[in-house]
Amino acid sequence: MLVGVPKEIKNHEYRVGLTPPSVRELTSRGIEVVVQQGAGEQIGLSDDQYTAAGATLAGSARDVFGRADMIVKVKEPQPQECAMLREGQILYTYLHLAPDPEQTAALVKSGAVCIAYETITGPGGGLPLLAPMSEVAGRMAIQAGAAHLEKSRGGMGLLLGGVPGVAAGHVVIIGAGVVGTNALQMAVGTGARVTVLDKNVDRLRQLDLVYGNRISTLYSNAHAIEEAVLDADLAIGGVLVPGAAAPKLVTRDMISRMKKGAVVVDVAIDQGGCFETSHPTTHADPTFVVDGVIHYCVANMPGAVARTSTFALNNATIGHAVALATKGWRRALLEDVHLRNGLNVCQGKVTYQAVARDLGYDY
Ligand code: NAD
Repeated sequence: MLVGVPKEIKNHEYRVGLTPPSVRELTSRGIEVVVQQGAGEQIGLSDDQYTAAGATLAGSARDVFGRADMIVKVKEPQPQECAMLREGQILYTYLHLAPDPEQTAALVKSGAVCIAYETITGPGGGLPLLAPMSEVAGRMAIQAGAAHLEKSRGGMGLLLGGVPGVAAGHVVIIGAGVVGTNALQMAVGTGARVTVLDKNVDRLRQLDLVYGNRISTLYSNAHAIEEAVLDADLAIGGVLVPGAAAPKLVTRDMISRMKKGAVVVDVAIDQGGCFETSHPTTHADPTFVVDGVIHYCVANMPGAVARTSTFALNNATIGHAVALATKGWRRALLEDVHLRNGLNVCQGKVTYQAVARDLGYDY
């Protein structure tokens, strides 16, 4: 088995499918790995580190795709990458096929075995290969929010933690899942006053046990959200209703009555966002202003901290990568229902029900 790692080619994507420590996990088991030259260069992972971990280097993506039995990536394959996939080759990466009929058709046509990180399940429930990116985005939300509260970035000129004799800022977090909990942890660390809202009272109970009177927990309804955001200096949106667009919990009217120079970070923007005034932005131009409130709505927040994100992602992906490389895809999938749940396209067929249903394929 030869595992191949091409350099990511999507705009502003600096993450890489395997880190040198992950390469070592494979090569130490007798698996050969070929890495495209410069694949990790932008995030401080040099070709020398890859060769020291036992990989060989390839001069081009075509060389990697042409030789490897299994391709490990981060982002969904771009059209020119899909065209290089072949019958029976394993593709292990994020795919997000449901809203992407062109990519789905290209993967079906390739005959490759396509395993999507985002639909692999975990023994304790949840989606363990998505969780690391939510952890990153949740923590980043406070960093981004705090930066944009500074006057030079358009904010009201507020230090979240205050100083002795001056009140701390108020951070309101809507949704206490992975994003919300990580945002909460960072917000508490800054010394800010923190309020967290969720519909799941058991989740609020758990947070209350951990943080006690350092935070306020509120059951999420329109009244509580309105009261909280009108007093917020920084409001974070981290709700998720599985399989649905994010509910618009903060209305345009509420935004118009928020403090001028307050900041909202709508992490749930990749599902449409939970602030009515949100629309997706990019790292190149991350914010816009509505009624004096700064909106930060970057749809791929982890991309900004590509080095941390790459290591966090590898921690979650390497176990299955080892299983696929050492057992072959048939045995690896047969033995692990959670990995099997990641199979989205297999040798010309769509094998993931929701994708087949949404895009009109037989299942
Ligand atoms: P999660 O499932 O762990 O948590 C979602 C939480 O929202 C749950 O606790 C749920 O009870 C709560 N919720 C649902 N309806 C609610 C309501 N009406 N009021 C309050 N809370 C409600 O999900 P997560 O991993 O934390 O992800 C949250 C969102 O962030 C998702 O849309 C995810 O795709 C997105 N995300 C975005 C980025 C980015 O770069 N922008 C990165 C990672 C994740």
